[in-house]
Amino acid sequence: MAQQTQARHWAIVVHGGAGDIDRAELGPERDKAYREALSEAVKAGAAVLDHGGSALDAVEAAIRAMEDDPHFNAARGAVFTAAGKTELDAAIMDGATLRAGAVADVTRTRYPITLARAVVEKTPYVLLVGPGADAFSLDAGMEQEGAAYFFTESRWQSLIKQLQKEGKPIPPRPEGAPLPERAVPVTQLEEAADTHRYGTVGVVALDRSGSIAAGTSTGGLQGKMPGRVGDTPLIGAGTYASNQSCAVSGTGVGEYFIRYTVAREICALVQYKGFTLQQAADEVIHKRLAPIHGDGGVIAIAPDGHLAWSFNTPGMFRARMVEGGPLEVHIYNDEP
Ligand code: ASP
Repeated sequence: MAQQTQARHWAIVVHGGAGDIDRAELGPERDKAYREALSEAVKAGAAVLDHGGSALDAVEAAIRAMEDDPHFNAARGAVFTAAGKTELDAAIMDGATLRAGAVADVTRTRYPITLARAVVEKTPYVLLVGPGADAFSLDAGMEQEGAAYFFTESRWQSLIKQLQKEGKPIPPRPEGAPLPERAVPVTQLEEAADTHRYGTVGVVALDRSGSIAAGTSTGGLQGKMPGRVGDTPLIGAGTYASNQSCAVSGTGVGEYFIRYTVAREICALVQYKGFTLQQAADEVIHKRLAPIHGDGGVIAIAPDGHLAWSFNTPGMFRARMVEGGPLEVHIYNDEP
């Protein structure tokens, strides 16, 4: 639902993934845990903005909070490939300068969003992938983690369930992963399985100088083929920001977001067709993606203070805050 801030007031919107998120299936405890996790992310970004920090810094701070939180499919709580490995993608873009940085298929970086930012600041490039990106991460002094850090039992069980269903081989448990009996009880794991297919994180922010930024971080799709890269690190698909139009972060089935260049398309409708931010987001998510089963959603922000979110799935983990206003957190499609 659209909302507009006063001029020169900061604002931030975050998402923690979209999908078949069902109230009954999620249950009150996990509902509460997700809302708290989303609130923490907003607060991390809001603290930066409230101290006069840039939208870019706020985006990075809020995403780092979610990359550390195993509820989300980003860094620590990332999903696994069909080979049982973690391959992380992230991107960040500054609306003032159009400078953007992204990484794909990185395997050891604790904060992929900070690595994406290092691509902006320390290289002349926009996108680094695979072993080269892992090597750059080390060189750039990023915190490194082993496979056990990125391991969560619920996501592992969810992967096994999916691979069994698809008749695919089950990969060995990652090295250093805790023994199954020491991890989460199986009943909770069963319940968690489907929700845990989602959880990509994204943030858009507006700072007091009137500048906007966007960032997105993900483990991609559960059970993906090793080497598969989604929309998240592709500028214009899952992530885009320009002070001429808007900043967008998307989540959903990346292949559709890539084909429809979702993030840039929304901004183009605002820039060239005079759509409001909400109209533009709804046009792409509901009119173009929904009919072809391009499941997912976006969050968006404009330099004039308009905020929007739009999704064609039963839920999207999402939250927002405007300077001086309340922190709003929503999950299901029957909430505002
Ligand atoms: N868009 C992400 C990807 O395709 C996944 C997601 O948002 O859930 O990699």
